[in-house]
Amino acid sequence: MDRGKLTRNILLGMTFGFVLGSVVHMIAPADDGMTMVYFINGLFDIGGKMFIASLKLLVVPLVFVSLVCGASNLSDGSSMGRIGIKTLGLYLITTAIAVSLALIVATTINPGEGINLAAQSEFVAKDSPSIKQVLINIVPTNPIKAMAEGNMLQVIVFAILVGVAINKCGEPGQRVRATLNDWNAVIMRLIMMLMMVAPIGVFCLMVTLFANMGFSAIADLLKYFLTVVLVLLLHFSGTFSLLIRFVANLNPIIFYKKFAPVMAYAFSMASSNATLPITLQNVEKRIGVKNEVASFTVPLGATINMDGTAIMQGVATVFISQAYNIDISMTGYLMVVLTATLASIGAAGVPGVGLITLAMVLTQVGLPVEGIALIIGVDRLLDMLRTAVNVTGDAAVSTVVARSENQFDEAVFNAEVD
Ligand code: ASP
Repeated sequence: MDRGKLTRNILLGMTFGFVLGSVVHMIAPADDGMTMVYFINGLFDIGGKMFIASLKLLVVPLVFVSLVCGASNLSDGSSMGRIGIKTLGLYLITTAIAVSLALIVATTINPGEGINLAAQSEFVAKDSPSIKQVLINIVPTNPIKAMAEGNMLQVIVFAILVGVAINKCGEPGQRVRATLNDWNAVIMRLIMMLMMVAPIGVFCLMVTLFANMGFSAIADLLKYFLTVVLVLLLHFSGTFSLLIRFVANLNPIIFYKKFAPVMAYAFSMASSNATLPITLQNVEKRIGVKNEVASFTVPLGATINMDGTAIMQGVATVFISQAYNIDISMTGYLMVVLTATLASIGAAGVPGVGLITLAMVLTQVGLPVEGIALIIGVDRLLDMLRTAVNVTGDAAVSTVVARSENQFDEAVFNAEVD
């Protein structure tokens, strides 16, 4: 199947899944054995979960092999350091812009005014990691354990160290590098093979989700929901376009067109981590970022860069403070920007994690963590939307860094889009 057909089929899979799921939700009662148990939560659920699992299985080998290759191919250690600083800086700055935008829009729209708290249920927050622990955890004590647990930051650190050592190791290093380059090609091929079944996987995910979900929760929280969506759109079409246009000096329309299929995956799976193999492949093969940069920036972004999540947290903080009638001062808002930006570093890109780190933000500014119960009903759909923004942020920053380091293939970027 050529790429054009594949992209079209993925979008078709999403659309049909959404329609079928919504229809089932309207006509089949939740306790209907046949439809819900055997088809929706049986057959389709199995299909969707198998698809996600087949992508996740690639994440650790892909990140390790690809990043070792990337780091070992860089001619000198100083370019690795430069790329690292630029990437980290841009990830932090874009996230801080995202959450500031969220605070400005939310305090203008006031989504939490007039909320009736009495009707809400209890929410028990899970512990979120402290910033100190997040920093210590970056260095792996046991790389095999880090891989087995899928701890991406630790795998990234280990892979960079191995890559730099290979680079400095002369002849033996060359041999290891050649083998790993071959492995890289094999894994990329594996991703392409899995992509062939992607439309079916995405279809199954969407049917299961919408058949179970329904939209009644959204009506109750419409103002909050729409505020988050509005800021996501602003950041997506504003901040990222400006970055691509004026910092990377490229046409944002081409960027979005080429990246669209990845957004569709991220939306369906609500996980930057599970989307990672596709993001990496797309950023290298369609956008034109060279492996030396993409292999570092994309996995790092999937782990530490979550603009969409930070936006939800900004709006949610304002919403909860208004719902509880607790005033957070200007310093409180600055604290939100800081904590929401740092919180994204410690959170893995999996579904729903934004709510857990939201607990950290709320605690910082003295808001009740139970406030999360107010917004939990619409979080899954928002999670899907913000994950699409999260991965787009990773790709945009990767593009900017690659351009500035001359590690960008403009011919690939400008090649015909399907
Ligand atoms: N699902 C998001 C992601 O994987 C994280 C979150 O906001 O919950 O990027």
